[in-house]
Amino acid sequence: MIYDLIVVGNGIAAQTFLFELFTKLDVKKRQNFSVAQIYSEEIAASCSLRTTATVSLSGIEKGVSDLGNELRESFFLFEDFQKNHNPIGVEKISQIVGFSSPKDRAKMIRRYKELKKVNHLILKEEMEGTELNSYLVKPHLYHRWFNEQLSPYGIVPKKNFLKKITKNNGGIIECELLSREIIKTKKIVLCTGAYAKLFSEFCGETEFLKNTYTVAGSFLERSINLFRPSFYLTIDDHNLIYRSNEQQLILGSASMNDGIIMADHIILAEILAKFTQQCNFSIGDLSDFKIVTGLRHKGAKRRPIARALDLEKNIFMINGLYKNGYTFSHLCAKKVLSEINL
Ligand SMILES: Cc1cc2nc3c(=O)[nH]c(=O)nc-3n(C[C@H](O)[C@H](O)[C@H](O)COP(=O)(O)OP(=O)(O)OC[C@H]3O[C@@H](n4cnc5c(N)ncnc54)[C@H](O)[C@@H]3O)c2cc1C
Repeated sequence: MIYDLIVVGNGIAAQTFLFELFTKLDVKKRQNFSVAQIYSEEIAASCSLRTTATVSLSGIEKGVSDLGNELRESFFLFEDFQKNHNPIGVEKISQIVGFSSPKDRAKMIRRYKELKKVNHLILKEEMEGTELNSYLVKPHLYHRWFNEQLSPYGIVPKKNFLKKITKNNGGIIECELLSREIIKTKKIVLCTGAYAKLFSEFCGETEFLKNTYTVAGSFLERSINLFRPSFYLTIDDHNLIYRSNEQQLILGSASMNDGIIMADHIILAEILAKFTQQCNFSIGDLSDFKIVTGLRHKGAKRRPIARALDLEKNIFMINGLYKNGYTFSHLCAKKVLSEINL
């Protein structure tokens, strides 16, 4: 059998792409359209289940840079998605943003122009900063919602590691799995996150992966009932998040280059100390928390990759979502869907 399409990955990039694809396909085409999805949580753990997952426009203005424009468009696409589909696992929230040093204050003024006095129930005292309309995403719930939405479409899951891709003379793409199974397809979309870079020798290094990096991100997480609504506090670009329904407190994050999964305990302890100083409740000690690490893929100049890799436009890639997976995934899905001829 030759599939019409194979999507590699089951993180936010793959799920958003598949969702948008099936929403746009007309009903007749949908019935005869064969899709397989390859992913391996065991070998290539998805970042989308190891993330602090918040969404905010963060004062980004139009027309300043290409990256800024992409971030803005992606944010509004995410907001439209919330309005149109009302997925579970997303909570609208007021984000309090502050700083702890003159350097970080200057950074905030560059970004937000004006600061004001802000207060919140969790703060020891009023502070200078800003307040933003943001979103908290609960990654496991959101992931499950996508899987449920996609389940009617008969996507064939192949829970295995993709070892190699080759295009044969007729233009058909052959995917060799670790189990030695070979599956064939007319088109393929690689949504492989940080593994695009880590395992690039399996799939052939493409020029589009040059100057891209794997950056691990670690955060602290503990289950605790704080008997209060969700909150989202940011100080010096570090986050303290409480998701009240899940009774989960999250602090982060600390980065490590080159896909090293070992977390930077010193930075995490510093972040914990920073929030302990500002907050009027007991956050806990480092030992009260579990450390969670996800592997992010940083694109060249932080920009996402959403394009065909070959001239015939049979092999596509959605990667480099870096710190903006929940918004960039919408822009990338839109770009690839406008190019891919299915
Ligand atoms: C600490 C931290 C905080 C973050 N905070 C935010 C935030 O606040 N807001 C935000 O928008 N983003 C945030 N991010 C980034 C966001 O989580 C990522 O950008 C996003 O999850 C990447 O999604 P993805 O689908 O590209 O990759 P992944 O979720 O990593 O998915 C990759 C998929 O590909 C599969 N795969 C890869 N290679 C193979 C192979 N060879 N064979 C089979 N399967 C394969 C994997 O199994 C997996 O299913 C954060 C990340 C971290 C680590």
